[in-house]
Amino acid sequence: MASAKPDAVSFPLALSGNSVGFHIVPIPRGDACDFCTARPIFRLYNCRNFPFNGRAVFAHELTHGAWAACRKCAELVDTGRWSDLTDRSFRKFAQKHGPVSRYEELPLREQFRELHRRFREHMIPE
Ligand SMILES: [Zn+2]
Repeated sequence: MASAKPDAVSFPLALSGNSVGFHIVPIPRGDACDFCTARPIFRLYNCRNFPFNGRAVFAHELTHGAWAACRKCAELVDTGRWSDLTDRSFRKFAQKHGPVSRYEELPLREQFRELHRRFREHMIPE
């Protein structure tokens, strides 16, 4: 079900007001879920380009791009379980880049929540 993704820029996640070089989604030609980084990719969502943390989520000249999801995240998107999706993304991020202090947790969760809210707004229904 996975297919090649068009070029997209990755962008840093601002942690505690600083850009710390963590890249959340989407990753250019990535082979992992753009929500939680799990592999393999189960499906791709078409999504209009939008700004996040001051940068376009896809290359700025693109009007839309592909947002990859693993099976679990696709299930959460398809059933509209957005807060579960945010929890999952945050948890996976913390596992990979943590430890995340309790002072960082809230702003970090907020960024995932905001990202997923915008994804939801810009997602192109099939
Ligand atoms: Zn996922």
